[in-house]
Amino acid sequence: MKKEFAVIGLGRFGGSICKTLSDQGMEVLAIDIDEEKVNEYANVASHAVVGDSMDEGVLKSLGIRNFDHVIVAIGDNIQASILTTLILKELGVEKITVKAQNDYHAKVLSKIGANFIVHPERDMGRRIANNMISNSVLDYLELSEEHSIVELVASKRMAGNTLIELDIRAKYGINIVAIKRDRDIIVSPQASETIQEGDVLIVIGADADINRFENKFA
Ligand code: ADP
Repeated sequence: MKKEFAVIGLGRFGGSICKTLSDQGMEVLAIDIDEEKVNEYANVASHAVVGDSMDEGVLKSLGIRNFDHVIVAIGDNIQASILTTLILKELGVEKITVKAQNDYHAKVLSKIGANFIVHPERDMGRRIANNMISNSVLDYLELSEEHSIVELVASKRMAGNTLIELDIRAKYGINIVAIKRDRDIIVSPQASETIQEGDVLIVIGADADINRFENKFA
């Protein structure tokens, strides 16, 4: 069965979520207090309605509790974001993702039971900064404060060695979970796999260990 999403707030963040979900064929109800925004998304979302999400009656009449996942993407108005989340929680919505403006906002959202709290600007800033530091890091996904999954371009010095020769699990405590080579992807590569220059290694481990590995072969 298709998942049903509701996106409240159609600013840059909510708008992008709404468009991506719709492009992926999901059912999306888009809600904004601003009629202009709603018109902008009328042809993108499955349904787009003007409404104030701080009004419990509005959310109830939209049958909000039947949606699989509700995203609160109200930006600057922290009060509206908190109150909306509280109402959604009280109405029994199962999965609520909320965009937080700052750490205080996030703390309150977590106390009232938001399931997922996202900091898009902070996280994207971190991600871009980390990608800028190194020439070989293509992308990374933060798993915790200290652990990540990183896409690394194999350097000349790595090339020609098998995974067992590099012995990275023992020496660095990190794992290569996949290798992207041209259009192929080798998932869980064998120890006998030889790294080629230009391979993209998908590595999981502690940030410090990944850095050590990267610097050793830079
Ligand atoms: P971004 O930083 O992602 O662009 P904005 O703060 O610009 O976020 O956008 C938030 C959106 O949320 C705006 O389109 C605004 O009209 C909408 N919004 C604000 N308060 C409410 C509310 N109470 N109910 C519904 N939509 C709201």
